[in-house]
Amino acid sequence: MKILIIGGVAGGASAAARARRLDEKAEIILFERGEHISFANCGLPYHIGGVIPERESLLVTTPEVMYEKFAIDVRVRNEVVKIERDKKQVLVKDLKTGQDYVETYDYLILSPGAAAIKPPISGIDLPGIFSLRNLEDMDRIKSAVKGKASAVVVGGGYIGLEMTESLRHLGLEVTLVELANQVMGPADPEMATMQHTEIKMNSVNLRLGQSVTSFTANDDKIRVILSSGDKIDTDAVIMAIGVRPENGLAKDAGIEVGVTGGIKVNSFMQTSDESVYAVGDAVEVKDLMTGKPALIPLAGPANRQGRIAVDNIFGLKREYRDTQGSAVCKVFDLTFAMTGLSEKQAVKNAIRYDKVYVHPANHASYYPGATSISLKMIYDPDTGRVLGAQAVGLDGVEKRIDVMAVAIRAGMTVYDLEEMELCYAPPYGSAKDPVNYAGFVAANLLRGHGEHFHANEVSTLKPDQKLLDVRTLEEVQAGMIPGAVHIPLHELRQKISELSPDREYMVYCQAGLRGYLAYRILKQRGFRASNLDGGYKTYCMFNQTAVYDKSSMGDDAGSESEIANDAAVAGDVNIVRTLDVSGLQCPGPISQLRKAIDTIDKGQAVEVLSTDPGFAADVPAWCRSTGHQSVSVEKVAGGKYRAVVRKLGQQSCTAITTCQKQMSNVIFSNDFDKAMAALIIANGAVAAGYKVTLFFTFWGLSLLRREPDKPVKKDMMEKMFGMMLPKGVDGLKLSKMNMGGMGTVMMHHVMASKNVATLKELLQQAIENGVKMVACSMSMDVMGIKESELIDGVELGGVAMYIDELSKSNAGLFI
Ligand code: FAD
Repeated sequence: MKILIIGGVAGGASAAARARRLDEKAEIILFERGEHISFANCGLPYHIGGVIPERESLLVTTPEVMYEKFAIDVRVRNEVVKIERDKKQVLVKDLKTGQDYVETYDYLILSPGAAAIKPPISGIDLPGIFSLRNLEDMDRIKSAVKGKASAVVVGGGYIGLEMTESLRHLGLEVTLVELANQVMGPADPEMATMQHTEIKMNSVNLRLGQSVTSFTANDDKIRVILSSGDKIDTDAVIMAIGVRPENGLAKDAGIEVGVTGGIKVNSFMQTSDESVYAVGDAVEVKDLMTGKPALIPLAGPANRQGRIAVDNIFGLKREYRDTQGSAVCKVFDLTFAMTGLSEKQAVKNAIRYDKVYVHPANHASYYPGATSISLKMIYDPDTGRVLGAQAVGLDGVEKRIDVMAVAIRAGMTVYDLEEMELCYAPPYGSAKDPVNYAGFVAANLLRGHGEHFHANEVSTLKPDQKLLDVRTLEEVQAGMIPGAVHIPLHELRQKISELSPDREYMVYCQAGLRGYLAYRILKQRGFRASNLDGGYKTYCMFNQTAVYDKSSMGDDAGSESEIANDAAVAGDVNIVRTLDVSGLQCPGPISQLRKAIDTIDKGQAVEVLSTDPGFAADVPAWCRSTGHQSVSVEKVAGGKYRAVVRKLGQQSCTAITTCQKQMSNVIFSNDFDKAMAALIIANGAVAAGYKVTLFFTFWGLSLLRREPDKPVKKDMMEKMFGMMLPKGVDGLKLSKMNMGGMGTVMMHHVMASKNVATLKELLQQAIENGVKMVACSMSMDVMGIKESELIDGVELGGVAMYIDELSKSNAGLFI
């Protein structure tokens, strides 16, 4: 048997070696138009960056070894230029001699791969603009960037990201331009947020949502013009906007090509010609999850398909079982990995799904170096079948996605994930692995033990749904969801009376677990409730505002003028304490920072080292809300984040911040209409998340009056005031058009007919909503109103109390 193979790298080399193992006598010829076969194209970026120092290590094997080991006739620098199917032969050009020759076959295997897409942008052919596919490209890029200052990478897929990292590793200033609003296109957008942070933390100029419109030569530089109008002069450009299957040979030979442009094959990797097989990046595969034709150019599938094609040539009847797109990418110190269905794909293909987010530690949190993994799992809400997973974190990410990949392939459900027995010892994992954990959360939901809502639904909550933040004060100081009320989990039982039974409480904590506990408390006490899946951490992933942005540094807290005017804080940063909180998860690092700040003097600074990627975004936010200065947040060796925070002000952090929005209003009038407005505003403010205090003084005290249980002793003046002032809201009159009481009666009638709550109901509602009612003791004294004449729940207070409340408030009205 004579087998010809076109392409000598992943798919082609695998096919050749397998063929020899199956048939010692077969004649096997491998054509490769390049200089090398079986090289590690996945390692190319890392040699450019110097992480893989030896070029030879990329050469997995050579033509000589292939001959010695497998007796395979490898012909490098030989390009197949035509397939003549009718004669079962190919036309080959020997690129060394320029001579053409013919070679016949019994079977032909195509593994020509995919070429980098070269968009028709003006100036694209200028010297200094490269793409990366093989060793020759690598050599060219390596010498072009040597000793140079800057580079622009176009395209934020995995090759673009790996090149960005490698060029930064060489010390170049790098701009990464990506047309979409996220890097790593196949990932769901929120799963790219942490990658964006990491890229920026490594001082890369990340330009999302922008494209290159043209390149021009500018002295010895290339000028890159972006769709935003910005111009970047750079030494080198790497184009990494994707690949397209090399289908030319097949097309010209009349071999069928699919809708995606990939060579069409059946499950045996056989093309429309039964003697011709095709594998690797050049073929159109079926997406395992959607069942649709797809191009998924990855090394694993190419290698497996090479083996399968050969097995079928030798009659072993093996089917390729579609591609599920398991992929992993290093983004500086982060790892992102995914497998199976993404949410984007589910939406696009109208596939029913639900999802959970969990953020557990990669290994036992008490063992040094624990970091969290943000894991998203997509599953079938009817059967619980696992459909897809994506994860991002510093360590242990790909291990969890590999487990998920197997679960998906095996058709497992979230219930199987709960039961999965995975390796555990403190340095490696947890007794409840992140995979188990994702299973627990999803299975709880499917069994009806929980109700959840998603971070992308926060902006569309209904009027009767109220966000309830159950995290600690420090966590809240580092950022909270606008409009939420804050009751820490440990205070929830005591403060439960502050919650309204008419509302549905949309609970959240940092990562989901405490939110679930709060949800269980609320449900068992008869409240409607739902837990934010994956908590505030997931919310931040959806809201890029929470992401570290260098432009927001420095003036996050404490205005520049405040700093400059203060001799104590001017000049160099005086770091008096260093904390290494590596391994602690949120709120650990922020808690430690707060404690440290409490121990130092104004103007002094604390340096904190953390491995928590969320810390980079938390520090500026925390400083913003506590009034301290976030001097710098940067990435340092060992994958750690280093933050320097300067103490401003003299109060301890806890005293500075009020987490909840607050309103303090003075009710001076006892007019019916003004009282009405005051109570409507108070109830509305509570609904909008405000803590409200109403301070009743002079005539306003009438609203709080009631008939005393027993007669009150009063002097003459007090008796007169007592008679003049209405006893409670029922006695109030309109400020205008009262017409001897007629107008007020008419108003009551109109309100009843229009179903408007009465003053009494509004007052009752305000009390039930937790509005703090304060009666001015000085006015009471002046007007002779005694405490026993006031409705229940009213506190007495003076002007100092009012001023204190007002100083903590975002708003105050005088009515
Ligand atoms: P290739 O490996 O590209 O081989 C095709 C070969 O065919 C080429 O050498 C070409 O010269 C030759 N050829 C084409 N036409 C002819 C012809 N007419 N005559 C003779 N020879 C011909 N995948 C991953 O899964 N993980 C990774 O981390 C990863 N990193 C990558 C990094 C880089 C920089 C690149 C370029 C790719 C990376 N890939 C990665 C993708 C992976 O390398 C490919 O999916 C895989 O190599 C495809 O194998 P293939 O055999 O189809 O094509």
